[in-house]
Amino acid sequence: MKVIVTGGTGYIGSHTIVDLLENNFDVVCVDNLSRSKKYTLVEIEKISGKKINFYQIDLCDKQAVLDLFSEHNDAVGVIHFAALKSVPESVENPLLYYTNNIDSLLNVLLAIQQFSIPNFVFSSSCSVYGNAEQLPVTEQTPIKNAESPYAHTKQIGEDIIRNFANTNPRINSILLRYFNPIGAHPSALIGEIPIDQPNNLVPYITQTAIGKLPQLTVFGNDYPTRDGSNIRDYIHVCDIAHAHTLALNFLIDKKNTSNCDVFNLGSGNGVSVLEVIQAFEKATLQKLNYTIGARRAGDVVAVYADNTKAAKQLNWQCKYNLEDAMQSAWNWELKMQELF
Ligand code: UDP
Repeated sequence: MKVIVTGGTGYIGSHTIVDLLENNFDVVCVDNLSRSKKYTLVEIEKISGKKINFYQIDLCDKQAVLDLFSEHNDAVGVIHFAALKSVPESVENPLLYYTNNIDSLLNVLLAIQQFSIPNFVFSSSCSVYGNAEQLPVTEQTPIKNAESPYAHTKQIGEDIIRNFANTNPRINSILLRYFNPIGAHPSALIGEIPIDQPNNLVPYITQTAIGKLPQLTVFGNDYPTRDGSNIRDYIHVCDIAHAHTLALNFLIDKKNTSNCDVFNLGSGNGVSVLEVIQAFEKATLQKLNYTIGARRAGDVVAVYADNTKAAKQLNWQCKYNLEDAMQSAWNWELKMQELF
């Protein structure tokens, strides 16, 4: 069974391709390589022992997308990762985020419709919940205002897919709301490769510990949380990756009751920034140089998942805990030092 994976050389995309290949899918990988490296493909092939069909295409190029889908109109599904994902960058450059994330989604949906590809899995985000009133958030928790243009592109993306589903009853979609993916493949052959300075907490931690960055700044310790720092739900990227294989099989096996379903993908544990630092120090025995700084624009106070729905319906469970994830992130940082 063939699956088209957009953004396949990116962080979650690459780990998902490994999982799909392990579960006997054939993968067509599409990426414009604007925020990822072709090197990742070689490493995926090393891990899996399988070849990937790769296309360097910008999904904002409608004709290129239609040509790709025409060539692979026998695909059983599409997993659409490709998107820009930095909260602070989106605050600085909202038009870049709206244009890239929405235009690419529209082109992918147009191609799915034109070539009647039956199944679609979309990378959404827990940021769609905004500052939720009740924690943990379930899939029914009311959606608040987006705190950043990035989060808004995910809210708009979900709305577009829901409307698309209404008028395309034979096409089945799943929206996967990721919480905070961290860590790297246990082989340490693939992981997150930050372009320039990292924005996300864990690569920032590992780069500080290895000496690439002088110091980590904790963005605020005056939030109304147990230690004043933000609370998030950190989840191993391999656990997130496997959920995509389960979601796709769920649709292929016609287990869905709606043609546009949504699942939270989080560990269910709310962890503060300061607790993440402690977990890193404990797992790796590295001492981290950090300081407390001002709040960062666009951050929600706290969010973590109720993952009961994914556990029950997709039969999904996390294999890794926070310390496993920190250890794998550190192993990957050490590996990157040799590589780049
Ligand atoms: N964070 C931090 N210092 C950093 C990077 C991130 O304190 O250098 C905090 C950030 O304020 C947030 C949490 O770490 O509370 C997770 O941020 P990240 O950017 O990794 O993910 P987000 O939840 O924003 O998608």
